[in-house]
Amino acid sequence: MSVAFLPALYYEATARDGNPDCRNYEQEFTVNAFYSNAGTNCYVTCGICGQHMEILTALLLDPQPEVS
Ligand SMILES: [Zn+2]
Repeated sequence: MSVAFLPALYYEATARDGNPDCRNYEQEFTVNAFYSNAGTNCYVTCGICGQHMEILTALLLDPQPEVS
């Protein structure tokens, strides 16, 4: 599954580790303020194995978080 992102917005995203060698394998993680950058190359990186997780869902935050 691929999730489409609009650029320069914050999303609440969920992602799952797909690396069988990783102890996070098949665990799901929530990223509360996932920034979409340019709308492409949006990745959630596993802190254990360093690989890109599969992004399962992405919900546009409304309102967008205040960035100070
Ligand atoms: Zn991992």
